Amino acid sequence: MDYQAILDDINVQIRPLLGSAGQVASYIPALARVSPFQFGIALRTGDGQEAEAGDSATPFSIQSMSKVFSLTLAMRSLGETLWERVGREPSGSPFNSLVQLETERGIPRNPFINAGAIAVADRLLSLGNAKANLLALLSGLCAEVIHMDSEVAQSEADTGFRNAALANFMKAFGTLDNDVAQVLDVYFNQCAISMSCMQVARAAGYLCRDGAHPHDGSQVVNEAQTRRINALMLTCGTYDAAGEFAFRIGLPCKSGVGGGIVAVVPDTLTLCVWSPALDNTGNSHLGRAALELFVAKTGLSVF
Ligand code: GLN
Repeated sequence: MDYQAILDDINVQIRPLLGSAGQVASYIPALARVSPFQFGIALRTGDGQEAEAGDSATPFSIQSMSKVFSLTLAMRSLGETLWERVGREPSGSPFNSLVQLETERGIPRNPFINAGAIAVADRLLSLGNAKANLLALLSGLCAEVIHMDSEVAQSEADTGFRNAALANFMKAFGTLDNDVAQVLDVYFNQCAISMSCMQVARAAGYLCRDGAHPHDGSQVVNEAQTRRINALMLTCGTYDAAGEFAFRIGLPCKSGVGGGIVAVVPDTLTLCVWSPALDNTGNSHLGRAALELFVAKTGLSVF
């Protein structure tokens, strides 16, 4: 398949739509300043072919896409015990919702809603060097040095009242072991990691290779764990739009409010799209449109 021609074509179709719908995330001031007139797309196949188009080399805030990589680290280090603190069911609620935590006694529905990722950050903190380990994982996966954007992290810390509420709530239920401020520091900094579409497509490469590292072939996670991460992305990766994403696109996806979406075609390739304007579920409006075009043009879907 001529992936480069397909991505060029998608870029040509999406560009005229920039600015036509959706809004950049405004609740994090550093993200509110990002221009919505940007679109990038990049992919990497399991055997290392790459293609990219548009603003595919521009770094952006990966936000909740980081939850795939923090989950990867936690699954690798903790195995089954991780699931004592976080569930595996879609929430059907917005990513920052508080309501289920009350009835479910401080155990978040899944690792991809904010509460779940905060629970995972707590587990990583207990293992030590959470931020450094995450950056080391990402830098190794894309063979480039990856950074956290301290301005974005500070902006989130200044305005992250809902996340603070989620963390305090879990602490009250006894389901966070560490100090709330330290857990939030890990969470805000992981969300503030800055990467381009090409870097994300490379970094996620193990998800289309049964867990094998895209460069050195070592197991990042094992085959069964990789299947489970993909299953969680499909069912929970785009919050209360996960059903619609499965219906329209049919690929494991994880979005972030920076406007990125990473998608996996198991055993074939990983793909990252980015355009900052979001729909009302917090998913990139044109990113979603681009993924729909990709699936229509290639027929690549898990269904
Ligand atoms: N940092 C964002 C938040 O906590 C992440 C949310 C997202 O990307 N969906 O609100």
